[in-house]
Amino acid sequence: MRKNFPVVTAVFLALAFLVASAPAQETAAKPAARNVVLIGWDGAQRGHLKEMIGRGEVPNLLALSKEGALVDVDVITGATDTKAGWTQILTGYAPAKTGVFSNGKYQPIPVGYTVFERVEKFFGPDNVETVAIIGKKGHVDADAPRRVPYEQWAKREAQQAKVDTTKPGLGNLQGGRIVEENGRKFVETPGKPYYNTKSHMDKFVNGLVENDKVGEMALRELERCKDKRFFFFIHFADPDHTGHKFGENSQEYTDAIKSDDAWTGRIIAKLKEAGVYDRTLVYVVVDHGFNEGAKGHSYAPYVFLATNDKQVTRNGAREDIAPTVLKHLGLDVSKVEPAFDGIPLDQPAPERKAPAVKPGGAKAKRAAAGQAGQARGRAARKPDSSQPEAAGAGDEQSMEQEKQLSARFSKDESLGRLKQITEALDGYRNLVDTIGQKSNLAKDYHITVIHGGNIPENAEIVVRMSGKDLRACNGIGWEFQYIGFPNWVKQVQGYVEYLEYQNMKMRLELARLKTSDPLDISRLAREVATTKERLATEYLDPAKWAD
Ligand SMILES: [Zn+2]
Repeated sequence: MRKNFPVVTAVFLALAFLVASAPAQETAAKPAARNVVLIGWDGAQRGHLKEMIGRGEVPNLLALSKEGALVDVDVITGATDTKAGWTQILTGYAPAKTGVFSNGKYQPIPVGYTVFERVEKFFGPDNVETVAIIGKKGHVDADAPRRVPYEQWAKREAQQAKVDTTKPGLGNLQGGRIVEENGRKFVETPGKPYYNTKSHMDKFVNGLVENDKVGEMALRELERCKDKRFFFFIHFADPDHTGHKFGENSQEYTDAIKSDDAWTGRIIAKLKEAGVYDRTLVYVVVDHGFNEGAKGHSYAPYVFLATNDKQVTRNGAREDIAPTVLKHLGLDVSKVEPAFDGIPLDQPAPERKAPAVKPGGAKAKRAAAGQAGQARGRAARKPDSSQPEAAGAGDEQSMEQEKQLSARFSKDESLGRLKQITEALDGYRNLVDTIGQKSNLAKDYHITVIHGGNIPENAEIVVRMSGKDLRACNGIGWEFQYIGFPNWVKQVQGYVEYLEYQNMKMRLELARLKTSDPLDISRLAREVATTKERLATEYLDPAKWAD
C-alpha cells in the first residue's frame, strides 16, 4: 500500500505556526528571598547535560548548584513540549487546570494563575518588577485570539496544492476551528498562553530568537531593576532550535547548552555586581528534553533544576517549580487557589518518575500487547475462537459478523487512537517548526514537503525530507497521513457507530420484553439488521481498512 504513494506527503500553510511559532499570605518559616531569576534552558536534555557536566562544559550551572542543588525533574503530566512545559513551570498546574496541554492544544492561561501574577498580587503591583525576556516566538507568546473570515481562509487554502481536507494536513485548520455567526463562517484560533498574563506584567518580550539577544536584554533589564524588587523569567531557546535542526547528539546542540551556561554565568555576575545576588534565588529550569539522538521531543520527559536555593532538597516533577519559587518568596502556597498540583521542593512528596515509554503512546500499547514492531496484524482483531459461542443457532454468518464487530471495536483502542490522532497533529506542527528552521523562510509561504518524487508545479518552497527527517518530527512518517491517520479516525468513528448499534439492539430487546407493537418490533429489527450489514461492509472489509 505504501508503495502507491511515493510522492508528496504534506502541503501546508506555515503562517500560523511558524511565526506565532509563549494575595496577602502568611510568610513561610524561613526568611524569604527578595528576588527571583528563573532562567529557562529550553529543550536541554538531562542525559546530555550530565555528559557535559562530566566534561566540565557547564561550569556556571555547576557553581550555582554547589550553593544549592541540582535535581532531576520529570515530566509527569502534559506534553513534553514548549507550550505545555513553560505553562506548567510558570503556573504549578497540570494541563487540566490551565487548558494548555501541548503546542497544538491550548488556550490562554486563566487570569491570575501564573507566577508573575501571583508575585504582583502578593507584593503589590508597584512593589515588584515582573519581567519576561523570551527567545521563542511561538509557544511562549501572548498573541490575541485570531478570527479570519472563512472565505479568506478558504482562499488561502485554495492557493495551495490540492490539499485533501479530509486529511490532517497543516493546510487545514492549524489548531483552529470553524465558527458560525449570523450565518457567516469564521476560522478561529485561540489566544496564546500568556494572552491574559501579559497585561499584568511590567515587561513581556518574546521572539528574540538568539541567546545573545535574550542575554543582552536581560542584563539591561537587570540594570534597570536592580534597586527594586524583581521577578525575572529569562528564556534561552538555542538548545531547542539546534536540537531540532542538528539533533540531540550534535555538537551544535552541545554548543547551544554551553551558550545557555555562559549566559547564566553572566546573569549571575550581573546580580553580584549589582549587590543583590545574596537576596536573589536563581533557578535554571527546563521545559522538556530531547528524544535520544533525535531531532524532536515527542516524548522527552527528563529534565532538571539547578539552583542556589538551599531549601531545594529532592528530585521532583515539572509542576513543583512554581510552588517552590513562590513559597521561597514568602507566599503561603497551601492557600493558593486553585490548589497547586505541584509540591514545593523542600517538602516531602511521593516519587513521581516519568515512565520510559510514553504512557498511552503507540510503543506502550505495542509493549502491552506483547507485539514487536509495527506489525499489528489483522489476526489480532480476529474473534477469539476460544470464546464460548453465544446461545442459539441463529444465522451463522450473522453470528460470525457480530463476533467480528465486537472484536473490532473496543473503547480502549478507540481512546488510544484518539491519542494517536492528537500526537499526529502535534507532530505535523513540529514538522512545520522544523521546516521553518531548516529553510529560514518562516512566514507566509506555502511549503511543500516532498518525500521522493517530483516537485509539484505550484509549490512555492519545497523542502525535501527523508523518511528519517520526517520521523524525527515527533514520529510522523509520511505514511501516517496517507494510511495511518484516516484509519485512526475511522477506528474512532466506527466505535461510535458500533455503540449506536448496541443501543439499537437494546431498544429492540426492550421492545420484545415489553411486548410492544409488533410493527415497532419489526421496524427495530430491520434497523438492527441493516445497521449491522452496513457496519460489516464498512469496517470488516480488509480492502477498506489498510493498516
Ligand atoms: Zn522544540
